[in-house]
Amino acid sequence: MNSEEEYHRELRKCVLCGSCKAACPTYSLKHSEALGPRGRLRLLWAFSTGELEPTQAMVERVFSCLLCGACSRQCSAGVNILETMYHGRDLLKGADKAGRTLKWILRFALKRPGLSARVFRLARPAIGPLLARAGLAGGVFRPGDYALKDTGTVFAPADIRSMKGRVLLFSGCSVNYLAPHLGESFIRVVNALGYEVVLPKREVCCGAPLRAMGFAADARDFARRNIEALRGLKADAIVSLCPTCVVTLREQYRELTGDAIEAVDAVTFLAGRIETSPALDVRAAFHDPCHSLHGLGQYGEPRSLLRSVGVDLVEMESGCCGLAGTFSLSFRELSDAMLKKRVETFERTGAEILVTSCPGCLFQLSKTISGDRVFHAVEVVEEGLLK
Ligand code: SF4
Ligand code: SF4
Repeated sequence: MNSEEEYHRELRKCVLCGSCKAACPTYSLKHSEALGPRGRLRLLWAFSTGELEPTQAMVERVFSCLLCGACSRQCSAGVNILETMYHGRDLLKGADKAGRTLKWILRFALKRPGLSARVFRLARPAIGPLLARAGLAGGVFRPGDYALKDTGTVFAPADIRSMKGRVLLFSGCSVNYLAPHLGESFIRVVNALGYEVVLPKREVCCGAPLRAMGFAADARDFARRNIEALRGLKADAIVSLCPTCVVTLREQYRELTGDAIEAVDAVTFLAGRIETSPALDVRAAFHDPCHSLHGLGQYGEPRSLLRSVGVDLVEMESGCCGLAGTFSLSFRELSDAMLKKRVETFERTGAEILVTSCPGCLFQLSKTISGDRVFHAVEVVEEGLLK
């Protein structure tokens, strides 16, 4: 959505029926109109017509949207709720006085991730315990240990004569700087399947966190840089372990630049490529990341992938883990309540482990569930395939 005209057209489409509220995790938690899609759209409409001045309360209602996309398919009037929310955030970002400092720090870090990671490494002895107490480190994340890209850029399979193809791994900030062990796990799995893995040298942040904070121009700049960095690189697939990166590259880049990167989620890439007999004997539940379920429409892929390595899957009701980028920092109480609900839902299944396919969900869930019970799907596949 690039013009005010388009934005107003989307806002005008809303007939205020309220069907979207039933799918909204923040609404279902508080039953407050202002914390549901209809209420947020109504606030944006009132702001766009000058009926309401932007206030901190308005900012908080709009920025408390998880951008999960659960409401998108509920609207029979065809309102593009997510794009409208993104555009509204871009217009409102200047009014966010309470969140300004946090957003500018994160913006600085995302624009200079290598430098930020080096600074963090040096300062970790001093600030590490503070971050752990604030819930920003720990769990399965090891921020600042090393960057995946420092480990190399080309990873060839053991037998290059029977190589099946080449995969570009779009690692994204979370895997590259916070959970490089997940990227290494993916590389080992994909090498074992006969593919060479390449880490594109000029990849930058996908831009999703910047866009979510209302920095649309920065996100557009990052989109153009990634499109340029990946254009012309020969590969059979561009794969990411983060569904948010995949949705951003595939869907949002088109909105931002008119161009897109046809990236594939790691679970979809791996599903159907596992040819061994099942090796695992574990009862697991799968947590669908919002951007996997609602953004990419993935449901069967992660399940068939996990079954292909022998996982005994039990179903669990879908729901958001409560991370949603800066949401977990700015709306701590809501985020904690959503995490608690999610963990209780998991424990009720009786499964031994919880598997997901998003580094962010993994981090959030591992705040409460111990690291030997919650895994990224790629780690489970590696366990079933190679150990
Ligand atoms: S379902 Fe669509 S039309 Fe109805 S309130 Fe939600 S956004 Fe508006
Ligand atoms: S994107 Fe998610 S949190 Fe935001 S309004 Fe829609 S359902 Fe609610």
